[in-house]
Amino acid sequence: MTTTVILGMLCVHLLCFSVMFLLISTRLNGKKMGMEVFALGNLMLGLAYILQLIDGPPDWSWMSVVNHILTLSAPVAYLLGALRFFDRPTPVVRPLLALAAIYAVVQLLVQALLGDEARHALLAGACVLLFLGMIIALLVGSRTFAKDLCVEMLVFAVLISGICVLNAAKFMMILVGGIAALDMHSGFQKVFYIYMSFLATVLPPCAVWLVLRRLTEELRTLAAHDPLTQLLNRRGLIDALEVHFSSRIVAPAYVLIVDIDHFKRINDTHGHKVGDLVLCHVADALKATARQGDLICRLGGEEFVVIALDAEKAGVLQLAERMRKAIERVEVPGSNRNQSIRCTATIGVSAHFTTAQAFDDFLQQADAALYRGKEAGRNRVEWALQEG
Ligand code: GH3
Ligand code: MG
Ligand code: MG
Repeated sequence: MTTTVILGMLCVHLLCFSVMFLLISTRLNGKKMGMEVFALGNLMLGLAYILQLIDGPPDWSWMSVVNHILTLSAPVAYLLGALRFFDRPTPVVRPLLALAAIYAVVQLLVQALLGDEARHALLAGACVLLFLGMIIALLVGSRTFAKDLCVEMLVFAVLISGICVLNAAKFMMILVGGIAALDMHSGFQKVFYIYMSFLATVLPPCAVWLVLRRLTEELRTLAAHDPLTQLLNRRGLIDALEVHFSSRIVAPAYVLIVDIDHFKRINDTHGHKVGDLVLCHVADALKATARQGDLICRLGGEEFVVIALDAEKAGVLQLAERMRKAIERVEVPGSNRNQSIRCTATIGVSAHFTTAQAFDDFLQQADAALYRGKEAGRNRVEWALQEG
């Protein structure tokens, strides 16, 4: 009776969380982070346990064959869902159908050649191998592709180790004690289902936590970047400056304001779309010219800010000149096919500064230098009057 109640509760958990995963996946337009596949995994496992409740003792039956297919396919679905979570586009339906077909044939062969015990042992053994693979993937992931989720990966690995050990024990018990070891009301099966219930309760909130982490990271990235050029925006620049000045031995930084010359003419002659393309090309030229670690931001319109970090005046002068020349080389196809657009930029450079709070003052200083550069004929680098 107790096992039946535990199993019933397990089914309810699995099916409820399946619906929850499905609802979350419908809210995640476009990138579903594997939630729809987790929903499928939970549904398959829930159905497997319902079949177990209906089917009764572990004898040969078609229901039992389907039950075993669903039991083995569910963790495979979780694995495929995890791959999708980590941005690896993975087919789901075909691999699962192929697995179902192959495992149906294998079960029939094992049943015919070795009997029912061997078929049940096969399921436990296959689950052990599958969970072992998952544990290894999680441990590798915690050191490579999912370093930022290291703690979560290790927690998953520990939780899955439990079910792996239980399946290994089940495998051994079938070999030693035969099919009687699978009596639903035995102490071992109770422990097995209680642990499964524990997993079915704990793992879905963990998966939702992972999705929340990803979403908040994406929102943070979106809030800190300019959608057109993918450069930092003003907010992202200030955050990056705060990190820089708080976490390192403070070395001087310089503000360079890069303003495209006569950009309005480009817009007026070729249209806004071409103007946007020019902005993207200039952004690429700045990225290609900046040194590793320099911060590049689109402040707005056709104005960019580069922060040369850990720099000396001579190095900044060279950098500004390199950027000016790189922008001169930018070539963008114009509205008329035979025409290509070229542009120049004027660059104003501030004196050096050493705190994030000083940024606004030094931005103004660079802006004043830029203004003088425009007055002096454009396409040039101009230094702040209070040089440092
Ligand atoms: P100057 O040499 O003095 O800098 O002249 P300018 O024409 O570059 O400067 P001005 O400030 O007169 O014009 C800037 C133009 O940039 C005006 C505006 O329409 C355009 N602009 C601002 N944001 C965007 C944008 O996101 N895309 C495009 N295509 N144009 C933009
Ligand atoms: Mg301009
Ligand atoms: Mg401007």
